[in-house]
Amino acid sequence: MALRIIVHEPDPVLHQIAKEVPKITPNIHKLLNDMADTMYHAEGVGLAAPQIGILKRVIVVDVGDEHGLIEMINPVILEKEGEQLGPEGCLSIPGLNGDVRRHQKVKVKGLDRNGNEFTLEATDFLARAFQHEIDHLNGVLFTEIAERVYEVPRESRD
Ligand SMILES: [Zn+2]
Repeated sequence: MALRIIVHEPDPVLHQIAKEVPKITPNIHKLLNDMADTMYHAEGVGLAAPQIGILKRVIVVDVGDEHGLIEMINPVILEKEGEQLGPEGCLSIPGLNGDVRRHQKVKVKGLDRNGNEFTLEATDFLARAFQHEIDHLNGVLFTEIAERVYEVPRESRD
């Protein structure tokens, strides 16, 4: 298990566009392993590589549903549908939440750790998590698109 350091706002790396992964190497496997370890350790539901300072299009998501851990390399949103407005936070922006409007359902495509393409249909909170993490790959933070940003109530902080 290897934990990486999560970078916080206003680190400029969070505002840059991440590069596609051209080839899956042992380094990418290590990156995926470390990202999952780091996400679980921080009790997050998703993590994008730029959040640990790596400008590669790699995300991990686990919202605690039946999908378990989802690793996706070069993720792309193929279809989007509907709308949901709900609260969101970010491991790179501790202490703040926001109400963010997202698509209610998305179909995403990407590569798994073996380089095989797969698609996944996500709804509700899982769809929100994917949109949030893919935004990170494009240098977009939830605070930039939220309808309202507010401090996390102290009693609900860890
Ligand atoms: Zn985030």
